Amino acid sequence: MTHDFDLFVIGGGSAGVRLARIAAGHGARVGIAENRFWGGTCVNIGCVPKKLMVMAAEYGLAAEDATGFGWNMTKGAHDWSRFIAAKNAEIARLNGAYTGLLERAGATIFNGTATIHNAHTIEIGHHRHTAARIAIATGGHPIRPDIPGGEHAIVSDDAFYLPERPNRVVMIGAGYIGVEFAGIFAGLGSKVDLVYRQPLPLRGFDPDLRAGLSEALTNHGITLHPGQCPLKIEDLGHAKRLHMTNGHHIDADCIFFATGRAPNTAGLGLEHAGVTLAPGGAIPIDEAFRTNIPHIFALGDVTDRLNLTPVATAEGHALADTLFGANPRGVSLTNIPSAVFSIPPLATIGVHEDEAPPGTKIFVTRFTPMRHSLSRRPRKTLMKLLVDGETDKVIGAHMLGEDAAEIIQGIAIAIIAGATKADFDHTIGIHPTAAEEFVTLRTETRRVGTADAKAAE
Ligand SMILES: Cc1cc2nc3c(=O)[nH]c(=O)nc-3n(C[C@H](O)[C@H](O)[C@H](O)COP(=O)(O)OP(=O)(O)OC[C@H]3O[C@@H](n4cnc5c(N)ncnc54)[C@H](O)[C@@H]3O)c2cc1C
Repeated sequence: MTHDFDLFVIGGGSAGVRLARIAAGHGARVGIAENRFWGGTCVNIGCVPKKLMVMAAEYGLAAEDATGFGWNMTKGAHDWSRFIAAKNAEIARLNGAYTGLLERAGATIFNGTATIHNAHTIEIGHHRHTAARIAIATGGHPIRPDIPGGEHAIVSDDAFYLPERPNRVVMIGAGYIGVEFAGIFAGLGSKVDLVYRQPLPLRGFDPDLRAGLSEALTNHGITLHPGQCPLKIEDLGHAKRLHMTNGHHIDADCIFFATGRAPNTAGLGLEHAGVTLAPGGAIPIDEAFRTNIPHIFALGDVTDRLNLTPVATAEGHALADTLFGANPRGVSLTNIPSAVFSIPPLATIGVHEDEAPPGTKIFVTRFTPMRHSLSRRPRKTLMKLLVDGETDKVIGAHMLGEDAAEIIQGIAIAIIAGATKADFDHTIGIHPTAAEEFVTLRTETRRVGTADAKAAE
């Protein structure tokens, strides 16, 4: 039986665009539908505009720091509208680049919501298209906790288009999106309160990074409320009031839920093709991105495995090569480096101390970066290596401090290549840098599973 397309991709985000573009490049007849904005979350309401906002906040801090270097400089006010207009223009340029890439590769693009009519048929508006294979790359969306007055809060999707910068922000949730936006608003001059359930921010990260970040957030002027959950939000007219589990409340101009994300599977019609879902709505897949229906695939955030753009694009590329490029391959989800663009940022690869096996050697250093010896900003850089006690392989590297993401990207290559601590020690540093500390960590700080490690806890 012939179909209209060899592959139909639902969702034009990081995963879907890469899959469609590479598959079309391999000669497949590809259709792809997007119902909001080409490029998806990362380009429009995720990584890219977020990083531009972090940069906007950092310029203000750099202006303050410059006085320590002899500049007669006053910071002045930040023009939110001018910045948002410049950011929007850049995002519009990127949108155009994505559709251009797809069209040049030969994919047929559809602007609209695609649903599954049956196992080989996609419906967009009143039109139906058949495909030999279907790929679901519909991403995810922010979750709103179900509390009274929850509708008065914003989520990350809204934060990129606020007409003006709120002077007082309550951020609920200290995952990576929460701490990043807390840093952005504080850096731009807002009073920020960060409310979170755990004792430390960034659950799931290395404990030293979490403690270091907690201190850094406070130094950045953010008021921390650990161990608190939101109970209800009241709209007072001139302000919103958040009530917390400790009985206290905070008034703000903006209350921001950064309380996690859920996969976009509702209303897709997956049941018409017999695709089964995990309890939270994610689509379970095998190592070849197959759902329980062998010709229907899922990739990216909708599978809720490791929700990062480079993972989504790698999955799209691997699936295209597997289906149409005579190069079947998967994507390993171990040793994926990642960063949090808090102020200062942090980055990480490999195991962290809480999950390291007994006998793992821990090397930690904490120092004042050179810039802040003159700026006098109270900011510390923290670097940490975890080394396998038997093989001497470096199994984890973590950093909190300026340029952490840029530095850990390079360290990630060494770790994936199987570098040992001896290899790090033989590497000559680049001086004067922060990065050189990673190759001059001579003294073991403690060992996992020993009395020292216990004492450090
Ligand atoms: C605030 C924020 C900051 C982030 N920062 C980073 C970061 O710094 N680094 C990083 O690596 N990752 C970051 N991420 C995560 C990253 O954005 C995602 O992992 C990535 O976008 C996932 O790509 P995807 O293709 O799976 O989904 P998406 O990019 O979400 O794309 C899915 C697309 O499908 C479309 N769609 C959904 N349903 C339909 C339908 N029925 N028909 C047609 N189209 C449909 C959606 O409109 C969307 O465009 C961030 C995310 C957020 C929210």
